Amino acid sequence: MEQELIYKKIAVIGCGASGGLVSLLLAKNPYNNVTAFDVKDAFSTLLPTGGGRCNITYSEDDVRDFVKNYPRGEKFLISVFSKFDQRKTRQLFKDLGIKTYVQGDKRVFPISNSSAKTIQTLQEHLNVSNFNLKKEKVIDLKQNQNVFEIKTEKGIYKFDYVILATGGRGNGCEFAKKLGHKIIETKPSLCALDIKEKNFYKLSGLSFSNVIITTKINNKKIEVDGGLLFAHKFITGPAVFKISALTAYEKFSIQKPLEINIKITEYSIEEIETVIKNNPKKSIKNVFSKFISESYISEILNINKIDGSKQIAQLKKQEKEILLKALFELKLNVIKRIPDSEIVTAGGIDLNEINSKTMESKIVKKLYFIGEILNIDGYTGGFNLQNCWSCAYICSLNFN
Ligand SMILES: Cc1cc2nc3c(=O)[nH]c(=O)nc-3n(C[C@H](O)[C@H](O)[C@H](O)COP(=O)(O)OP(=O)(O)OC[C@H]3O[C@@H](n4cnc5c(N)ncnc54)[C@H](O)[C@@H]3O)c2cc1C
Repeated sequence: MEQELIYKKIAVIGCGASGGLVSLLLAKNPYNNVTAFDVKDAFSTLLPTGGGRCNITYSEDDVRDFVKNYPRGEKFLISVFSKFDQRKTRQLFKDLGIKTYVQGDKRVFPISNSSAKTIQTLQEHLNVSNFNLKKEKVIDLKQNQNVFEIKTEKGIYKFDYVILATGGRGNGCEFAKKLGHKIIETKPSLCALDIKEKNFYKLSGLSFSNVIITTKINNKKIEVDGGLLFAHKFITGPAVFKISALTAYEKFSIQKPLEINIKITEYSIEEIETVIKNNPKKSIKNVFSKFISESYISEILNINKIDGSKQIAQLKKQEKEILLKALFELKLNVIKRIPDSEIVTAGGIDLNEINSKTMESKIVKKLYFIGEILNIDGYTGGFNLQNCWSCAYICSLNFN
């Protein structure tokens, strides 16, 4: 009887990034009895992150600037990050034995540069007697007179508290819906995109480190920047992911494509005009290759049947326009998202029904939501994991 009063029986459904961290933090308190449910090993969803290097977070101290990287969840996260931001996250990781460093582009990685080593270190913290990972898939969740009943294929288990951390692709939203929560329809976000202009797939393998993409959504102009990669059958890279995130709820098709304009070169038009003027005898290809990779300009010359070996002084007005457009205003038509290419999902648990100070449901007491199951998604760069770490930490404070 005394034990029942002292111990808090807590279930964590899903033991990926957020579920794993909340379990680890809760288990540090010996008065918490923590059971996580997942068919996978704890933290194993971190393995492919950051290309196997685990991009833990992004180094930006200003919370208001940080949250601009979330197409959904921006306001909610101001409150969350004001309590636990990327600096505190890096300190927490350091305390857990994972030192981090900031890359030139402000992305933060473990100094091991290894997701596998990061997972291993985090898993070691779960090697405590008051934590138990049940390798079972949860198929139902009910609340009966203040007690939660978790049903798996193997049995039914009872808990005082439940933390739902099933990510973007898990079935946690179904349980939440049955318990009275509103769910925002989930959609793929951070996807590779297919374009109408198949000619450009000849550029497969060619990447640009900092392009600017503009488009219009419902007559509103949007502009994003970042890397772009032409792949064999799609375009991808951080700038493309941003476009896919901002258009997650838009429909596009071959009949109704999304027109995007890409500024590929980092040079200004004046700089280009000066070089053209000062090098009249140089070939068109040679001059333009100063501003962009030679393979890109060769393909543009090919597609438009312009002889690149001609002297630049002989470049016709119309040809010049074509080349400048290819550098400053490359128009492509997006016709579809590449299936299963998404890194995260948009949509999930409606944030209006969650207390951002505790992560507790406003609908069901003692039920908590953390991570990507919430209607929160960020760009690439460490933003999605930061959401998981912060929600997990704040949630753990309820059980100190
Ligand atoms: C290829 C790839 C690379 C990425 N790289 C980065 C990066 O570098 N930086 C970054 O910030 N973000 C990155 N992300 C996104 C990031 O990994 C996710 O946003 C994050 O893992 C979400 O954490 P989560 O805890 O909400 O869910 P997850 O980490 O997805 O964990 C959910 C867990 O719940 C389990 N589960 C689901 N349903 C049930 C059920 N019914 N019963 C039991 N268990 C269940 C699943 O098996 C899973 O283990 C990447 C994503 C992908 C796919």
